[in-house]
Amino acid sequence: MRALLPDGTTTPLPVNRTTLEDIFNIHLDEDESASRFLDSIRRRIPKPANADDLFLNGVGETLADLLFRPYTRKMWGIEASELDVAIGARLPVRCNRDERYFADSFQALPKYGYNRLFESMLDHPNIKLRLNHSFEKSMQHHYKHCFLCIPIDRYFDYVYGVLPYRSIRFHHGQTIHNQAATVINFTDTAPYTRVTQWSLLPNSAISGNGLHTITKEEPCSMEDNPGEYYYPVQTSESQRLYGLYRQLAANLLDVSFCGRTGLFRYIDMIPAVTMHLEIAERFLQQNGLRSAT
Ligand SMILES: Cc1cc2nc3c(=O)[nH]c(=O)nc-3n(C[C@H](O)[C@H](O)[C@H](O)COP(=O)(O)OP(=O)(O)OC[C@H]3O[C@@H](n4cnc5c(N)ncnc54)[C@H](O)[C@@H]3O)c2cc1C
Repeated sequence: MRALLPDGTTTPLPVNRTTLEDIFNIHLDEDESASRFLDSIRRRIPKPANADDLFLNGVGETLADLLFRPYTRKMWGIEASELDVAIGARLPVRCNRDERYFADSFQALPKYGYNRLFESMLDHPNIKLRLNHSFEKSMQHHYKHCFLCIPIDRYFDYVYGVLPYRSIRFHHGQTIHNQAATVINFTDTAPYTRVTQWSLLPNSAISGNGLHTITKEEPCSMEDNPGEYYYPVQTSESQRLYGLYRQLAANLLDVSFCGRTGLFRYIDMIPAVTMHLEIAERFLQQNGLRSAT
């Protein structure tokens, strides 16, 4: 992923050694020099209280202003200083030249795509799949236990109020030009946050007409995109509200809330898989279906 700078050039994002060189117009001959330079521009905040503190502590004022603050404002609809640290904590800062978003040693896309992957996982005699059906509480009578990836506030009829989310409107188009990276972030104040060129992802089909499909993302409120829950807006007030819903959920013995809307938490794919395997394991053990290891 790269970020588009005001002069029309792009630079790696997450911030790495090259980003520091590009933006401050300096040469850093090794990772150690990048680390020393970063230390000289960071504002040390031992206990960051919000996402803005985290930006300042990680990269300092200039980079926070250029790369993170305007982006955060349009992405979340509020200032970084109002956002929980968990949001900013997702962005790594590196002193090497690794340009990947995630640092995992093994990163891959399924050879035959995600549809085939999930179809194969669900192809089991004990699994019945029913798509395009909204959950209704009356369904609970048919099952010993329900794992619900639905908005927790909706389940409880919003008794304590509505938990806040940001949504995204996707704008698809075509271009003849290859962009500088699969994903380019727009750090300016224009409405879009990023653009993806799909043909640059591994295993992607390339069309014969020389045109590349691109998708721009425009963050918006839930009112502008009803039902499309994407990013839980974590603030101290929304966490307090979620805590109340969790207390209600603790009294339900036949329901487990999961997923980002059930847990009111932004979850990347890998933690999503790990976390739900743990939820399943705990359920099996608590119900005597598997002995503790
Ligand atoms: C724009 C965007 C980009 C992302 N990019 C990345 C990325 O690059 N890398 C990464 O690791 N993660 C990424 N993520 C996060 C990733 O998508 C999530 O980790 C993952 O989708 C979480 O899965 P989930 O089951 O919690 O929620 P979801 O995928 O939202 O699944 C919940 C499902 O429940 C259904 N549902 C909701 N309410 C009801 C109801 N009442 N009745 C029946 N069904 C219902 C929904 O339709 C949905 O299908 C991205 C997320 C977004 C929004």
